[in-house]
Amino acid sequence: MTAPAERMSADNIKGELLAFAAKGGALVAGVADANAFGAAPEGHRPGDLLPGAKSVFVVGGAQPRAADWKSPHASFMETSSTSDRINALGLRVANQIERNYGYYALMVPAGVDRGRQPFVSVAFAAELAGCGSKSIAGPVLNRDHGFMYYSALITTLPLPADGPLEDPVCPAPACVDMWDEHGTTPCLATCPIDEGGCLGGCIKDGRITETRYDRARCTTRAQTYWAPGFQQALQATLEEKDDAKRRMIINSSGFTRTLWSMTYSNVSQGQCFECMRVCPVARPKHDLR
Ligand code: SF4
Ligand code: SF4
Repeated sequence: MTAPAERMSADNIKGELLAFAAKGGALVAGVADANAFGAAPEGHRPGDLLPGAKSVFVVGGAQPRAADWKSPHASFMETSSTSDRINALGLRVANQIERNYGYYALMVPAGVDRGRQPFVSVAFAAELAGCGSKSIAGPVLNRDHGFMYYSALITTLPLPADGPLEDPVCPAPACVDMWDEHGTTPCLATCPIDEGGCLGGCIKDGRITETRYDRARCTTRAQTYWAPGFQQALQATLEEKDDAKRRMIINSSGFTRTLWSMTYSNVSQGQCFECMRVCPVARPKHDLR
């Protein structure tokens, strides 16, 4: 039985929430200070979504399994996103805060606000909560688990913040060696921005000093199906005058997959994991029998 919140210290409440998150399947969890989002655009900070916000509680997990990374069939990863599971856990933590401790707890929506901006960047929250650090390829990487999905909830409950990592996870030592020898890293070599890809950057003294990312190009590859695919297919269907061709579009495997991915992963689904597939962070965990 949980003690009344007013008699518990912030450290104890945080300990209970971390244990609750771990029991619910989180591989990592942490707390960011709600006032530490100054680098985020105005209108997209925790207090803009929940007035009086004090903390942002972040949970991470639901990552692809080792076998998912091993499958040579690219379409497998395209249709097997598990990001909704971490969002479900985030909601359970939010319920826990409201019911057990009597503070507001608002889950950051996993969808996007106007201009395709996140309501509050969950990736930034994960960094500020010390769950990992932003990689040159974009995703926040955790040192022990590599790529994973995150969910963040904003709360008026004051909790001790964990703060960002002092020692970034990316670039991994193997990537620094590769950079020193070849001027690239596994992810940059997979999707080089100057050769039709989306990623570029620079590493100096073992630290990322520059990143380049072609978001528009990546979107056309990483969100081929899901909502953008649906919008594209819908437009093509509406514009097609020929009945037979219209039926072909509607029954095509591309459109079917779009519908699949939209129902499979309610809010978002990436279809291209190639930059993460080659990332060495937490790679031993991918090598099973
Ligand atoms: S997700 Fe795919 S397209 Fe996007 S940066 Fe990574 S490898 Fe390139
Ligand atoms: S492969 Fe992974 S660790 Fe290496 S530079 Fe790219 S994102 Fe960073």
